[in-house]
Amino acid sequence: MGYPWQLDEESLEYIEALTPEEQPLALQANNDFNQQSLLIPSIFVFVILGGFALLVLGAAFLRLLNWSTSGRLYKLAPKFVSKQIVDAPLVSSRHASPVPMTPGFGKSKTAQGKMHPLSIALPLRGQTVILALLVFLNLLGICAFYKTDVNNYYWPGDTFIQSCRYLSDRAGVLSLGQLPLVILLSGRNSPVRALTGQDFTTAMMYHRWVARIVALQAVIHSIGYTVYSLHYGKANLATAFADPYWRWGVVATVFMAVMIFQSIRMLREVCYEAFVLIHIVFGVLTLVGTYYHIALLEASSYKLFIDFIWISTAFWVFDRVVRLLLLVVINIDVTRGSGAFFTRGTISLASGSGDSDEDLLRVRIWPSGPMRKRFAALAPGSDILLHVPLLEPMTSHPFSVIASGTDAKGLYADMLVRVRKGMTQRAQKKLRKLIVSEGPAASFETLMFVEGPYSAKVEISEHDGGALLVAGGVGIAHTLPILCESIKAEAAGNGGKTPGDAGESSGAAAQRTVEMRWMCKSAATFDVALPYLEEAVLQLRAARANGTATKRTAFRVHLCRTESSSKEDVSEKDAASIDSPSATDEKAAPTDVPELGKEVPHTQNLSSSTHARFDALKPEIDFQWSVGRTEIGEAISSITSESHLFASGRKPTFCVAACGPPTLLDDARAAARAADVEYEGAPFAW
Ligand SMILES: Cc1cc2nc3c(=O)[nH]c(=O)nc-3n(C[C@H](O)[C@H](O)[C@H](O)COP(=O)(O)OP(=O)(O)OC[C@H]3O[C@@H](n4cnc5c(N)ncnc54)[C@H](O)[C@@H]3O)c2cc1C
Repeated sequence: MGYPWQLDEESLEYIEALTPEEQPLALQANNDFNQQSLLIPSIFVFVILGGFALLVLGAAFLRLLNWSTSGRLYKLAPKFVSKQIVDAPLVSSRHASPVPMTPGFGKSKTAQGKMHPLSIALPLRGQTVILALLVFLNLLGICAFYKTDVNNYYWPGDTFIQSCRYLSDRAGVLSLGQLPLVILLSGRNSPVRALTGQDFTTAMMYHRWVARIVALQAVIHSIGYTVYSLHYGKANLATAFADPYWRWGVVATVFMAVMIFQSIRMLREVCYEAFVLIHIVFGVLTLVGTYYHIALLEASSYKLFIDFIWISTAFWVFDRVVRLLLLVVINIDVTRGSGAFFTRGTISLASGSGDSDEDLLRVRIWPSGPMRKRFAALAPGSDILLHVPLLEPMTSHPFSVIASGTDAKGLYADMLVRVRKGMTQRAQKKLRKLIVSEGPAASFETLMFVEGPYSAKVEISEHDGGALLVAGGVGIAHTLPILCESIKAEAAGNGGKTPGDAGESSGAAAQRTVEMRWMCKSAATFDVALPYLEEAVLQLRAARANGTATKRTAFRVHLCRTESSSKEDVSEKDAASIDSPSATDEKAAPTDVPELGKEVPHTQNLSSSTHARFDALKPEIDFQWSVGRTEIGEAISSITSESHLFASGRKPTFCVAACGPPTLLDDARAAARAADVEYEGAPFAW
């Protein structure tokens, strides 16, 4: 047994069979090989894995400390660190919207709506530091500390081929050693996320980068070995290729490379379901190929390498088993205490005509299993994975829970779903048939399975100045619950921190402002928010009547219709869709609205009864209407300018929480950074 870099039994037997003169030379060559080919890359693998473990444990420790000090710890960190390093985009303001690396193609008139075969989402500066360190360690692992010997017993007089062999082996070890990381980072229930509190989008970003490095190392390993074999003639390469261990290695490398290619953003966006299926099958084939590639070498000291494969497999199986268990525990109620054996769900039209891309569907689920109570008090910003097997058997889809509560059928959770091209479109088609016969209130019930809820709590109550919530299109599904919770907290007498709480006089009535700006193409969409706002306002009104509510927060909702009313410019409007998930180029072109942000007394496409319902929410919520995209920087300053400095000179703190298309998120982050306020963004993509 022993470690890969130690002299193993097979080598020892080989050396012992040599003449006494040859033995010391062969032993030296063997030791050199073990050090150069196996020990050095193994050290780098352990440095990378150890560094990763330290990062995770460090982040978990900070999280614990922060939790135990009720959030005071983060405030101790120099603002410079979070503003200029942790939260700063690498260059310009782009982070959520990918940077195109190739020219776009497709029908759209604007670059924004085009497909870009290659585009890359730039990491934040803090993330770049971690990734740069990873790349540096990988480079060092394959490029540094070479020691060749012209008198080497195995490769006498040929230092090139010695180096080639060492490089190939090092690349192979580095590729294999980081495989567990790739799989660990890909898990929906990854312990890394549980410990660090990292969101899935960030975990996916790291997963992709580590996977690229692992695949690149595998390709270097394969090319290196091909060059090495060819050096001894084509016949030698043919003999090597005939060896099953070699072929399994080729299988693993090819599948890894194909996985990198098939996961480019454009292909993921074109058919996500196919992407997921191919990814899973090829992932399994990669593990199998790598296993046989090493196992067939029958080297007793390579047990550590086999262990890396088992660890990777264990991470993958763990995630799958947890997901399966969650599916059973969340969705199956054998006692029928919830009234149903399985989770059920209905799909209905929330907004639109039933045959347009702009339609929003309302999905209501009644979770069935014993863990359904988790849906009773959901943190705003929570999302679930929804399987609708009769519409799409294989994949699950992430959706934000816009609200949860109890109705006649029991505990429910609502999702607002924008129609795209896959499962959501199939749901719309099925609904459309029913709408034709039953009218716009039609709905259908279908079997659904839920995974989650996965919580990403957005904490705005900590900010004594208030918050700006920015939503683009269906991004309201993430943002509205934050506003509603804030209103309900006010009703419950717990309306967030205010300047007075800090014991510092603000020289003005202790007041925060929570404003939501929601940009939608059509004003007709606005009414989807009404039931949820009405419920929250009713609570606040009742609490104020009883004198139990706090009066700390002023609530404002600003509804911005971004679509021009003109009929002639349909194609332009499509091109500048606020919901476009494939916005991969320049900032979204503003729609051709004559007066940007102009306040309008009445809104087109909004029925007078809907308008009256909005009016009825006053004075608890102050509503404003406008046409055109909102300027987020101005929106922030309109809130911050209303606040007053403390007597001590300290400014109240604010935050911006945004959800919508990538360009909107980048604009919101840039505006928040410029105004020196905290930022939370929720991209509806990973
Ligand atoms: C955390 C999160 C929360 C989300 N919340 C909402 C929400 O509240 N309302 C809403 O309308 N949309 C939400 N989305 C987006 C939603 O998941 C996709 O629009 C939906 O899965 C599209 O399904 P489809 O089969 O019709 O998509 P397609 O037309 O096949 O694809 C449209 C786009 O959705 C992406 N997509 C498709 N399937 C998946 C999947 N299983 N997982 C991840 N991305 C996928 C594709 O890459 C593509 O970019 C959210 C996404 C994320 C990551």
